[in-house]
Amino acid sequence: MVKLTFYGGVREIGGNKVLLEDDKGKLFLDFGYPYKKYHDFYEEYLKPRAGAGLLDLLVMGLLPHLKGIYRSDLETENLWQQFRRAEHYRTLEDIDGILLTHAHLDHSGHISFLKEDIPVYATATTAFIAKAIQDSGKADFDQQVCYFTPRVEECLRGWQQGAYVASSGGDCQRRFRVADKSRLSEQARNFWEEGMRQKKLASQPLDDISNCSFNLQCFPLDHSIPGACAWGIETSSGWVIYSGDLRLHGKRGRLTEAFMKEAAQLHPRALILEGTNVGKAENIAEAEVYENAFKAINDAKGLVIADFPARDVDRLLTFLRVARDTKRKLAILPKDAYLLKTMRLLEPEIPDIAREDAIVLYQETTASKSPAQWLKKTYEEYSSKVVLAKDVRSNQDDFILCFSFFDLNELPSIQPRAGSLYVFSSSEPHTEEQEMDFWRLHHWLEHFQLRASGLPVEKNGKWEMPEEEKGLHASGHACGPDLLRVAREIQPEILIPVHSEKPEFYVDNLSDSGMDIILPAEGRTVEV
Ligand SMILES: [Zn+2]
Repeated sequence: MVKLTFYGGVREIGGNKVLLEDDKGKLFLDFGYPYKKYHDFYEEYLKPRAGAGLLDLLVMGLLPHLKGIYRSDLETENLWQQFRRAEHYRTLEDIDGILLTHAHLDHSGHISFLKEDIPVYATATTAFIAKAIQDSGKADFDQQVCYFTPRVEECLRGWQQGAYVASSGGDCQRRFRVADKSRLSEQARNFWEEGMRQKKLASQPLDDISNCSFNLQCFPLDHSIPGACAWGIETSSGWVIYSGDLRLHGKRGRLTEAFMKEAAQLHPRALILEGTNVGKAENIAEAEVYENAFKAINDAKGLVIADFPARDVDRLLTFLRVARDTKRKLAILPKDAYLLKTMRLLEPEIPDIAREDAIVLYQETTASKSPAQWLKKTYEEYSSKVVLAKDVRSNQDDFILCFSFFDLNELPSIQPRAGSLYVFSSSEPHTEEQEMDFWRLHHWLEHFQLRASGLPVEKNGKWEMPEEEKGLHASGHACGPDLLRVAREIQPEILIPVHSEKPEFYVDNLSDSGMDIILPAEGRTVEV
């Protein structure tokens, strides 16, 4: 009998943490950051205390009460005594690994807390994006997926015989096992092992997935970040398939089609399937985003700003195509350049910034005199491509600036001409904080007299996308009818919906399918 216990992603979009236990071993399926629960308690200036280690997250119910799976340097003295009577408390040891589906933090973030010797199974692209995010950002202690800064150095001594000791005071890289190791060039391996921060990196060479006690299958998928995959695990009850996040309407839709066929051939015992967009009746395809963005930008006068989700490389490439076709230059920020460069190590079809005429690098006006190593390298490598605010200001018709809300601070230096265009190519606000940011965004646009395209508006307290503004964003998630197709084509004996606020959708729509549909409860075990 295989046991599946759901510690996150239950009636919640994100925060997936599913424990799979079998005679063969124990695996976690993702170990994500639970944004919704987190924001019930915390915000930008009220965060879990890094110095308190695991305590705040355990007390506030943001991490499962499982003694034995977490980093010992984050365990304060007698930490577990107070949780012994907690509802789902147990000791759990000898985890064989985490099967990570993609590098979005709501699936990966809390890997940060797990013991450093638990391997992470992923695609090479997911591993590399996790590293690029950390190299080029300021990952908080609860989002350190690829490597982490240990709090007490001594307690890590002994793992990997000296690898850590050699870099005392540095960062520890996790052990990643990748499904497509054969794709790694020497250059790619060097990137993986190279420290990019002030601290030294105790690196761990990438391994492959064959050393797992389970027979695994990795299915590449289409989602709003490259490298996404689903996992198949051969258990003593048959195959268990875990979808992660998926869609069929992006540039890589054929990957999801292939997954459906291959997973069906395994005649799985169970399918754990996402349900983010069960309420949506149809999708906007990435190809439509190109068409609509081209139309809007081709007619535009003055500056164009394109606001799209971070790490959505396919969207960035959509805007690159628009830039070429409208004879503008796509001005990207250094962190996007670093990500593109990283992706190119694995996917040679990704454009080379140095040779791509339509890409330039925007340098923030107040950039530090002593930039971080990754930033310095990026500027050096593309020095002939750097543009400053004054360059954009005096040639506004020549650029599409890739900015998000948090980059608006550059506008006082750029001073866009009245009538310039802001293209919003992302989803509506989901949280109160995001709603506040939308008010601010509207104020910025009014202040500089910018026109907007694709922007949600507030109506009776609800933010909605007006019908005429739709078409500039393709969601990372399949719509309801597509999700039903995925379930029906794979035809598992048992279907378990996760990552959804309305999992009943599957019960309501698949009653004639012959599948046994089980809605999981938080912390509860389902036997399959
Ligand atoms: Zn995702």
